[in-house]
Amino acid sequence: MAPHNPSNTIDFDAAKLQRLGYASRLQKTLKPVSLAQLRQQLSLRLQTSLEVERILELFFSEVQRLVPLGALSYQLASCDLRLDLGERANHSAGYRLNHEGEYLGELTFRRNQRFSADELGQLESLLASLLFPLRNALLYRAALQSALRDPLTETGNRIAMQQTLKREVDIARRTLQPLSVLMVDIDHFKRVNDNHGHIVGDQALKAVANALKDSLRNVDVVFRYGGEEFMVLLSSTNREAASMVGERLRMAVLGIQYLVENQAIELSVSLGCATLLPGESMDSLLRRADNALFVSKRDGRNRLSMAG
Ligand code: GH3
Ligand code: MG
Ligand code: MG
Repeated sequence: MAPHNPSNTIDFDAAKLQRLGYASRLQKTLKPVSLAQLRQQLSLRLQTSLEVERILELFFSEVQRLVPLGALSYQLASCDLRLDLGERANHSAGYRLNHEGEYLGELTFRRNQRFSADELGQLESLLASLLFPLRNALLYRAALQSALRDPLTETGNRIAMQQTLKREVDIARRTLQPLSVLMVDIDHFKRVNDNHGHIVGDQALKAVANALKDSLRNVDVVFRYGGEEFMVLLSSTNREAASMVGERLRMAVLGIQYLVENQAIELSVSLGCATLLPGESMDSLLRRADNALFVSKRDGRNRLSMAG
């Protein structure tokens, strides 16, 4: 279908050239795409992926066949999602995305030229093609995440731990970066359950998991390894730094103010720390951290031991 108004249609490559100053010379070679054509093509292309990042990348490049853009950013805080494509620019058009009453995030188009009313209309029309694929990708992402998370403590589960640790060991080997792990076990946790019941026990477990998460950098990951045991993965972290982190986590748990019927429950953890050796396997690394944890328990608990 031919474009209704050729002045509203612009080819992406020409838009790039326009920024470089070649526009007038090459104007005649522009291959226009109409809004209707693009909407149809977008629907097909966006269905080819279930990954939020990929869908937004496709959308960003496809939309530019009609409306030139400098950047696109997307965020959905509730899912901890944030994506910035392209370069910063000073004009922006932002949209709250809703699909049948469901909030799907905030999307902002940016570029250095002001958007015309026609272009805004086109962008809005193209956004409609994004909603379905984006909603599906968000659902898929949530399903994947729930398969990898422990629902009580909101940390990674054992499956996630295996996958992540394997990947991190490979990266550490390839990049020759250090990698350390901490095994963390709550001290005398059986007593909490015995004295206060399982519900309080569950709350205490949550409180410990939160204390661990709050004391770590964003890149560090906590996994629930067993009932009241956690594993903390510290990428690019050598033995000395890991020992400092371990000590910080120990203090954070000691600092938890957990009251049951106005009575404070004392919580502490024992930790074992190991740093990946050259050529070492994932299992061996975990075993050494576990042995170090055993030493902490044996020597009186509420302490950190370093693997030899
Ligand atoms: P230690 O200092 O030697 O680690 O003593 P402990 O009592 O913490 O260790 P033990 O292995 O004897 O007991 C672990 C307890 O953790 C037993 C179990 O009831 C409790 N536990 C494990 N998972 C959960 C859970 O999901 N919820 C609750 N409430 N308790 C749990
Ligand atoms: Mg245990
Ligand atoms: Mg324990």
